[in-house]
Amino acid sequence: MSATATTATSGSPTVVAGGTWVVDLDGVVWLAGEPIGEVARAIGRLRGVGVDVLFVTNNSAPSTGELLARLSRAGVTAGPADVLSSADAAASLLADGQRAGFVGGDGLREALERRGVVLTSEPPVDAVVVGWTQQFDFDQLTEAATLARSCGRLIGTNEDPTHPTPQGLLPGTGSLLAAVATASGLRPEVAGKPHAALVSLVRQRIGPPDRLRLVVGDQPRTDGVLAQQLGVPFALVDSGVTPAGTPSTVPVAHRAADLSALVDELVAAHGPPH
Ligand SMILES: [Mg+2]
Repeated sequence: MSATATTATSGSPTVVAGGTWVVDLDGVVWLAGEPIGEVARAIGRLRGVGVDVLFVTNNSAPSTGELLARLSRAGVTAGPADVLSSADAAASLLADGQRAGFVGGDGLREALERRGVVLTSEPPVDAVVVGWTQQFDFDQLTEAATLARSCGRLIGTNEDPTHPTPQGLLPGTGSLLAAVATASGLRPEVAGKPHAALVSLVRQRIGPPDRLRLVVGDQPRTDGVLAQQLGVPFALVDSGVTPAGTPSTVPVAHRAADLSALVDELVAAHGPPH
């Protein structure tokens, strides 16, 4: 498959005429904490032609404030309404006042507390929620599995088995979730991309469905399937976990080396230069 952004004619003719793009963070905006290419210029050019950007990540560990600070360091201005994470999706599966056991980072804790969920290690609980953390050991596994068994409900923020770092692949949330699922004997509900809870949150955040134009991501299994679930084209960038030339497992409307190349190609094809 070509690594060039493709065809002004096969996708929606209005892909850059107003509306909203859903843009992944890891592997699209940054990689290992470093901004990818001219990402700030690309987002600016996109906004300049009237496109809103909703950043959607399966990383549940950073708080909203941390995500906004990382975007700011990458040169991208954004507010709380411009970001959604798998932590928000997991929290949306619980109701105000429910009690939950918890394995995860600040982002998941914040999302659950914002929802009004009471975090506790004491039964009774309504669910156990698992997100990404490096603080995970046998005691936590024992506690989470015991609580989950007691209530029969296990929720995972996402099921990504690994995530890329400069040191290589580290175990992802899917690995921690599999441990708790195996030890509790429960089948987990997964909230993040490309599952229903996150799809529903994206729809709520965007408003009228015809505003949604495109999903941009580096991972067909999550971002590409999210695009399918939302009923919009998928743009695959080669700047993350999917190397250039690797066939996609889902249909790809546009493919580019990175977000800058994608935006330049699509804006030049569809809209006035900024
Ligand atoms: Mg990604």
